[in-house]
Amino acid sequence: MKNLKIAIQKSGRLNEKSVQLLKNCGLDFENYKSSLITIVSNFNLEILFLRDDDIPDYVEQGIADLGIVGENVIDESQANVDYLQRLGFGKCTLKLAVPKDANYTDIKDLDGKSIATSYPNILSKFLQEKQITAEIHPISGSVEIAPGLGLSEAICDIVSTGGTLKNNGLKPFADVSTSEAILIGRSGLAENPILCELLQRIQSVLRAKETKYVVLNVEKSNLPQITELLQGVKSPTVVPLAEEGWVAVHTVIPEEDFWGKINTLKAAGAQGIVVMPIEKIIL
Ligand code: ATP
Ligand code: MG
Repeated sequence: MKNLKIAIQKSGRLNEKSVQLLKNCGLDFENYKSSLITIVSNFNLEILFLRDDDIPDYVEQGIADLGIVGENVIDESQANVDYLQRLGFGKCTLKLAVPKDANYTDIKDLDGKSIATSYPNILSKFLQEKQITAEIHPISGSVEIAPGLGLSEAICDIVSTGGTLKNNGLKPFADVSTSEAILIGRSGLAENPILCELLQRIQSVLRAKETKYVVLNVEKSNLPQITELLQGVKSPTVVPLAEEGWVAVHTVIPEEDFWGKINTLKAAGAQGIVVMPIEKIIL
């Protein structure tokens, strides 16, 4: 079978997590920083290491079959690719920001203003939807210094903590879009058996990340209460303990309501609670 090629970021914020995801899928490959391409030894896949901006076009043109890249970069490129799977990392927000003493109150206050950004396509679509006419200054980096230099009255850039904005005398004003890393594919690839296998593995890794394996001990008399609390999980496993009248309950719970659930389980008589990470969940 012909190998598929997947493009991932060579270095930067998405590189490490993209490599880790592929490794967690059981793929075995050398991750030399200096090489542009590496072959997976136990799967029909080759990995290309590229700048993130280039990934959507490479996939659209079929030079790579698949890619892992931020939604913001895909949207900005306007490349015609298939969105195959959201990956849950590289989360960030594209925001409009203005000088901290500017007294804009409504998004409409940007009408007639100038905005510097590295995301001119996303921004112009957003402004169009909001029926705002503003002058867009496309620049490729250090967008946050543009207002201080007098190039623009506002900026539109990716913000995580807001520290960079603050250091440059800016404040966030409105959200334009949110983004996370996405697995994309060239069109026409959907039925490919290598892709289907890879997607199944990726989904089992993502599913496992969202859940924890929990083992706890409880007196038999408290068991109905505990099982009640573990609702939503297909009937937990209950094993008798050597000590008469006690059982161990094994189950899987979602990571998101983890602390809330642990505390209520304790209150209901659970003891010796052990929580373990899960590597994969195959349905
Ligand atoms: P390259 O050299 O590959 O072009 P880059 O400098 O353009 O890299 P990075 O800063 O490594 O890009 O960010 C890659 C992606 O990570 C972004 O496009 C975005 O989707 C995501 N990301 C997550 N959090 C942030 C953040 N705080 N700032 C910037 N990007 C972020
Ligand atoms: Mg880039």
